[in-house]
Amino acid sequence: MDQGVHRRKMVPRGCHQAPGRYTKINRKAGATTRFRSAIEPDLLHFPAHAFLKSTPPIPRRRPKTNPDQLRLPLQRPRILPPGIPSGVKPPSPPRSSFRFSSLLPHLGLILLLVGLWLAIPRSGTPAGDGADAEPAIPVIVVDAGHGGHDNGATKNGLVEKQLTLDTALRLEALLKKRGFQVIMTRRDDRFLELHERADIANAQRRALFVSIHFNDSTTGSGDGVETFFASDKVAPSSSGLFSKPPEPPPADNGAGFAQLVQQSLVKRLEVTDRGIKGRQFAVVRHTRCPAILVEGGFVNNPAEARKLANPRYRDQIAAAICDGVAAYHNKRVLESEQTRVAKSK
Ligand SMILES: [Zn+2]
Repeated sequence: MDQGVHRRKMVPRGCHQAPGRYTKINRKAGATTRFRSAIEPDLLHFPAHAFLKSTPPIPRRRPKTNPDQLRLPLQRPRILPPGIPSGVKPPSPPRSSFRFSSLLPHLGLILLLVGLWLAIPRSGTPAGDGADAEPAIPVIVVDAGHGGHDNGATKNGLVEKQLTLDTALRLEALLKKRGFQVIMTRRDDRFLELHERADIANAQRRALFVSIHFNDSTTGSGDGVETFFASDKVAPSSSGLFSKPPEPPPADNGAGFAQLVQQSLVKRLEVTDRGIKGRQFAVVRHTRCPAILVEGGFVNNPAEARKLANPRYRDQIAAAICDGVAAYHNKRVLESEQTRVAKSK
């Protein structure tokens, strides 16, 4: 029944209202409709619309199939799309949920596309070790020669392992000021095998290796500086293989690197230029990156020994090596850029 209309028991006016006047309260609408009735007041159930002054209520339709149903079905009728006759089941609306099973027939194609996407070189990462690769800033591996029980040359109150470590630490500080990343093979008085020093450099993707030593001559003669490189690179016997592939062009075996460092040393220290020399010293031979071994002076030479004992002179040695490292790196960057421009023409 209509829940919105509640009927008070009709009270005859004879009690407290004029006869024939009744009140019907529609609480849902909040309105009160007054009407006059000529029938007996004890007739409580009557067709009220016949006495309403306002528009009579629309008779309620009841479904024929269920004439006793009191509540109208709230479900809205489904509207068929135009062109589909009634009685035909309408198409199901598109489902929002995604079915992965629908991708299974295309799995091979999807995997192929993913593989192609992964194979595309991304910007900011080198495409490989080819000549076109941008020369990344190398890690500078600084090797203080000797150490631990290996003193190296000991003349004129000098101990080579101490000179090498002191100069190496000064070089480290200067290289870092230039923005290079530096790895030290040792930072204190410890012994390292030669292949261990090479392995440290070989573990780096891009590196320059600088080993620092001081000369000794059994004859008591000799002066000046010299720089060695290895004309032939050989993998360390400890591993049998270089852990990384050879450096890409325009890297060299160390001769070009040695040349720039040697020039810088001679210019700054104003000492005898003994030149660069290809020699199969282990630490430069077994490093795959450009590697040099600097002999910064003769400890057996009294005049040079006095200079080497001075920390400010060792500062100059370190500064000269640092300049040479920077010059070599800049030279490689320039050569790489020239190669790139030449190929683009
Ligand atoms: Zn040495």
